[in-house]
Amino acid sequence: MRLYRGRGSGRVAVALVVAMVAGCGGDTPLTMGDAVSLGHCGDIETRPWCDTALTPAERSERLLAAMTLMQKIALLSGDDPLSVASGDPYVGISEGIPELGIPDLRMSDGPVGVRGSPTTAMPIPLALGATFNPALAWRTGATIANEVRHKGNDVLHGPVGDLVRNPLAGRTFETFGEDPWLATRMTVEWVRGAQSEGVLANAKHFLMNTQEGIVGVPPLLSLVGGRQTVNAVVDERTLHELYLLPFEAAVREADVASLMCAYNYVNGESACGSPALLQGVLRDQWQFDGFLISDYVLAVKDTVQSVNAGAVIEMPFPLFYQPLLLQSAVLTGLIGVDTLDARVGDILRTLFRFGFFDRARYVRNDDLIDQAAHAAVAREVVEQGAVLLRNDGVLPIDPAVRRIAVIGVSATERPSGGGSSSVTPFVFVAPLDAIRERAGPDVEVMYDPGDDPAAAAALAATAEVVLLFAADVATEGVDKLCLSLDCTLADVPDSLLLNTLQGGAPDLLDLLLDPVVTTSPVAPILDRLFGPIVLGAPVLPVSHRDQDGLIRAVVAANPATVLVLQTSGAVLTPWRDQVAALLAAWYSGQEAGAGLARVVFGDTDPGGRLPVSFPDRELDTPVAGQPSRYPGIANQARHDEGVFIGYRWFDANGVAPAFPFGFGLSYTDFALSDLELAVDGDAVAVAVTATNVGGRAGWAVPQVYVGAPTPAAPVPQPPLALKAFDKQWLAPGEAVRISMSLPSRAFAYWAVDAADWQVAPGCYPIRVGWSSRDLPLSSAISRGAGSCD
Ligand code: BGC
Repeated sequence: MRLYRGRGSGRVAVALVVAMVAGCGGDTPLTMGDAVSLGHCGDIETRPWCDTALTPAERSERLLAAMTLMQKIALLSGDDPLSVASGDPYVGISEGIPELGIPDLRMSDGPVGVRGSPTTAMPIPLALGATFNPALAWRTGATIANEVRHKGNDVLHGPVGDLVRNPLAGRTFETFGEDPWLATRMTVEWVRGAQSEGVLANAKHFLMNTQEGIVGVPPLLSLVGGRQTVNAVVDERTLHELYLLPFEAAVREADVASLMCAYNYVNGESACGSPALLQGVLRDQWQFDGFLISDYVLAVKDTVQSVNAGAVIEMPFPLFYQPLLLQSAVLTGLIGVDTLDARVGDILRTLFRFGFFDRARYVRNDDLIDQAAHAAVAREVVEQGAVLLRNDGVLPIDPAVRRIAVIGVSATERPSGGGSSSVTPFVFVAPLDAIRERAGPDVEVMYDPGDDPAAAAALAATAEVVLLFAADVATEGVDKLCLSLDCTLADVPDSLLLNTLQGGAPDLLDLLLDPVVTTSPVAPILDRLFGPIVLGAPVLPVSHRDQDGLIRAVVAANPATVLVLQTSGAVLTPWRDQVAALLAAWYSGQEAGAGLARVVFGDTDPGGRLPVSFPDRELDTPVAGQPSRYPGIANQARHDEGVFIGYRWFDANGVAPAFPFGFGLSYTDFALSDLELAVDGDAVAVAVTATNVGGRAGWAVPQVYVGAPTPAAPVPQPPLALKAFDKQWLAPGEAVRISMSLPSRAFAYWAVDAADWQVAPGCYPIRVGWSSRDLPLSSAISRGAGSCD
């Protein structure tokens, strides 16, 4: 029994009866077309909004006209504060109003799979970003949404449209990476795929959830620069050219049903109460027609401003949207009746648009989930997202090899990110077992967990090839302290950040680092609520392992070592020149073993390219050593690096990354030739030939970058920006002519005074190649009145 009931348990009983009478209890979810003909909404004589001949807007108006003030208010918040901890059977619910035929609206996390009960544990979104394959993003969105639907839920809290500004950010793993163009392409297709299942996608976190903060209790809150309190200070141009783009594309191209407004503040206003964002950008500029759901607990920070600005459903239960508070705000005129109707109308219109009133409610039935097909999608993401960063020829493993040593505890585990996107897989075959299976009976596969580097090295010395697994720890609610695999305080550079921490709160720091905290009586409770990751990620996500030491010991014992990194994002790779091969495999979910075995044995080609730059040093990031940028001083995080994040920052500052954005090797070799540019209205058509000049089939991922124009635009521009890419599977000797289009936006900057996109006249370099730092083909094209002569 629930401890809290939003509007009385009687309603639940009535809902059940109505659902049964309406014949909604069947096991097989109906297609929307089927459901319409069954008339789930009700009789149009008594419920005129059930007339499917009307538009969603007309139906919504009719329903609004039949609603009392308190019924409208009741729709503006969630009704179950407890489900958020377990995620089962839903993470949140907005109970319906049976007497009006309004069904419950049930919500699921999230971007890695459905939280709360067994699901297909997909690779993290960052791994999906690394696939550079929007079609696979479509299939991933559809796969997760299909499971949401068969768990009996309607809304999917995903995808994540946030960009990686700070590689330490705890939720890096949930994003599509650092580049807005890559993120928009993945976001759009993910949303389309999800919504093709009749589920409402909920793109999050709108806007500027660029950090979780430090010194905290993951996944809940952090005390310094914490997501619930930090104010992202960011200029308008940067907002439009970077952080808004994935959400804009979700709205304008994918017609996303809903957005989740974030915990943080943006330029002094709470993200859920910002007229500039919710009205100015979302409604006025983009004509967003859907509705806003708040992030869970305290993202809505007031009553009147948030409703007036446009935030609709406060989740997971009403704090500021308590019925009495809203009622008095309406009765005293602080919230106009028209405004209230507009907010409720946003929900109703969307639900009509998605056939929500006209279909049977989705019924939980895991048997309807095609686990094998979903596992196949997950495995494909593993393979296409695995980025080969170095290979001296040891990969793929030679079929003549007879002795393989697998080392590292993560070869037997499923490293994953903590917090709302941690999931329980339907099945899990560890990489070690999958490698044994693929290697077959003629190959001896030996294993050592690596706890004792000397013992691991001794085993490595007896093998022909070593597969060494290493992982980092990352979680929602708190950022990583440093970019090493195992972040001990000694790894944190002597930066202002550390000085601030140590100078400000030495006792607190000592206390938080005390292992007693992680073995305290509350630890099992947190573990039950949020998953084992909490124990692996204590209040400061430091580790007491030494994987760098293990790597060095193993490589010294056997140079034929392949290092498989299972990480949340970029990490430091100080040993990169010593390993024979380096494979960035991310947190790869339940199919990590199957997919990685196929990659290392050469059954397929590693298809991933880096969606984030890997820095050479801890201090080589846009925010390192600059507390005013991160974690922020007095809760103000100044994003004054502007549009220069990710590779834009490396390029503009002349800093060489360890591995650049877009980079990734194949087992074969490719050549690019015959670059042609043609003006096509406002757009520029780019054509290039990619040829597989090696001896194996593999993935070619050509990328098109637009350079800063000559003469310079009135605003500082990144030296290069990704504006198109493609991905082709090519057989040996095969050549393909690839056409890509650069829309006028690819050349535009956001002109703040005009509040619009403008193209500075000039000559724009166009560079085509394999990463942000390997662009063998160049040309140029003039835009506006500019010329390239
Ligand atoms: C996260 C959201 C998530 C929600 C529900 C919040 O803490 O920020 O991304 O959807 O919890 O689990």
